[in-house]
Amino acid sequence: MAYRAPVEDILFALKHAAGFAKARVDGLYGDLTDDDLAAVLGEAGRFASEVLAPLNAPGDRSGTLFRDGEVTMPPGWKDAYRAWAAAGWNGVAAPVEWGGQGLPHAVNAACIEMWNSAAMAFGLGPVLTMAGANVLASFGAEDLKRTYLPKLVSGEWMGTMELTEPQAGSDVGALRTRAERAGDGSYRITGGKIFITYGEHDLTDNIIHFVLARIAGAPDGIKGLSLFLIPKFLAGPGGGLGARNDLRANRIEHKLGLHASPTCHMVYGDRGGCVGYLIGEENRGMAAMFTMMNEARLAVGLQGVAIAERATQQAAAYARERRQGRPDPAGPPGARASRPSSPAGETPALQQVPIITHVDVRRMLLTMRALTRAARAICFATAVALDRSRLAPDAAGRKAAQERAALLTPVAKAFSTDIGTEVASLGIQVHGGAGYIEETGAAQHYRDARIAQIYEGTNGIQAIDLVTRKVPLNGGATVRGYIAELRRTVDAVKAANDPAFGATAERLGAATEALAEATEWVLAALAARPDAALAGATAYLRLFASAAGGSMLADEALAAARQGSAAGDGADAPGRIAVARFFAENLAVQAKALARIVTEGADAVLLAEAGLGAP
Ligand SMILES: Cc1cc2nc3c(=O)[nH]c(=O)nc-3n(C[C@H](O)[C@H](O)[C@H](O)COP(=O)(O)OP(=O)(O)OC[C@H]3O[C@@H](n4cnc5c(N)ncnc54)[C@H](O)[C@@H]3O)c2cc1C
Repeated sequence: MAYRAPVEDILFALKHAAGFAKARVDGLYGDLTDDDLAAVLGEAGRFASEVLAPLNAPGDRSGTLFRDGEVTMPPGWKDAYRAWAAAGWNGVAAPVEWGGQGLPHAVNAACIEMWNSAAMAFGLGPVLTMAGANVLASFGAEDLKRTYLPKLVSGEWMGTMELTEPQAGSDVGALRTRAERAGDGSYRITGGKIFITYGEHDLTDNIIHFVLARIAGAPDGIKGLSLFLIPKFLAGPGGGLGARNDLRANRIEHKLGLHASPTCHMVYGDRGGCVGYLIGEENRGMAAMFTMMNEARLAVGLQGVAIAERATQQAAAYARERRQGRPDPAGPPGARASRPSSPAGETPALQQVPIITHVDVRRMLLTMRALTRAARAICFATAVALDRSRLAPDAAGRKAAQERAALLTPVAKAFSTDIGTEVASLGIQVHGGAGYIEETGAAQHYRDARIAQIYEGTNGIQAIDLVTRKVPLNGGATVRGYIAELRRTVDAVKAANDPAFGATAERLGAATEALAEATEWVLAALAARPDAALAGATAYLRLFASAAGGSMLADEALAAARQGSAAGDGADAPGRIAVARFFAENLAVQAKALARIVTEGADAVLLAEAGLGAP
């Protein structure tokens, strides 16, 4: 099914749930107008819908071809990539001095969602290129920047991020790739990396690998890691292509999904001549990596939103077309209006109702839409916090925003990618048996979505990060300040006193108090029983997202209600209130149970040796 970029929805979420409008009022975004924003996102939406989306299913079917160390991308991908880069999309948020457009990160986040909805296997590559470019811009030596940054920002060359080795996945500090000083300021790299996204391909003439390795004699663990830039082709005279470097892909993986994104096994220096250039200081590679981690994790969260959006669009369209069954006996008013007359005896096929009129299908579609919008709002709010952390005029404002971004990032990554899979799974369910058949396309979304829960730090690791590092920020003041904001939204819904919100204020209030209670418990447990805090980390992250996502949807609904429903402004007050209410009354109500898992569930995990089965 065709993808239609939800530009109005995205604009509305940015402005009213994520704090973009306030950031603009505060002067963070210079003279960027509403019209500029709508024009950029409108054009991105057009490119995503018209150029990229048609490549998604064929790319999944054909996959990438590996022969003699080279990877051929699916038909049409090279042309689409070159048109995309030529239009300047690679450098939306990159600094103007390196050829970027210098737009806010939040604008790029909206674009990232659309590229990944259109074709997640396409959208992934540029995320890694820009992660590499950012780390080079922040830590690279001037000559390296001059040679590589303009081409990485323009997209003429693509980049990779390379941490993983067979024995070093989540435990990055265990990696063994070696670097030796060469005497001319460069290094010779020896080793191998696995699962490297876009490690080899034919979209660009050169590929710039950003590789973590250990310099001979460096300490064990992450304190001994250094970051290297390793070009596939060394720079030649005038910055063009020079000699081929001693590196190669020696296989690509066959995967559950993301078939058009080549996942490569890389080999460095097996002829003893792989040239690498240090980025930043020796043994400070992880510190450099951490600076771009928030943005890369947010981008993966946006992949979850993207796939959820596409699955929701497809399921909603199918549910309007597919006719099956009789009207539900006590269906909702909307369904009753569209029922055919029911003659006695068998219902003829023509009188079957569209499945969207069945109560359980409405439940699935509302769940899909509510989770997608909540995850989008959380991701965009994280992007705005990242912008504030760079652009706020005062140091205190920058520090507070940096802490807000740090707090929200693991939630944006893990919640959005969890719901990406859940929503894609519901998308299959809405299609019934047809959803399980590849031809329909619903199955691809599910297969593609799954990896985002794993890469860029598994979701289990995100939950641990939230509980052990982010909740304790400032002795808990950062998270408590955030919870205070959620309470203000609850008060605003109460004050609106609009019956259309149903029990939204009460349910969100209960979810927020459940989060507050679980937060205090976690803060205490980290000192007294850290293993118990870890046992509830995943439940805590979902609880956090339930309260935060519900609150952001309520903010959107309140803004829409204030604004009315002028055509074309994306406000859609009745629709937004309905989705916010559904989230509060049907999803955020899980908060109390989740809090109970956090505060009372640890022993059942920690004392359950017998339940793990015999070794
Ligand atoms: C398609 C694809 C693309 C990828 N692209 C890249 C890339 O471009 N660059 C790159 O460097 N890597 C890439 N990866 C690798 C990816 O980042 C890792 O697979 C991921 O970090 C997990 O590491 P692992 O596979 O070794 O799993 P493991 O680390 O072995 O984890 C297995 C399980 O144990 C859990 N676990 C592990 N340690 C802990 C702990 N301390 N506490 C609690 N739970 C723990 C994990 O959460 C997970 O559930 C890619 C992987 C795939 C499949």
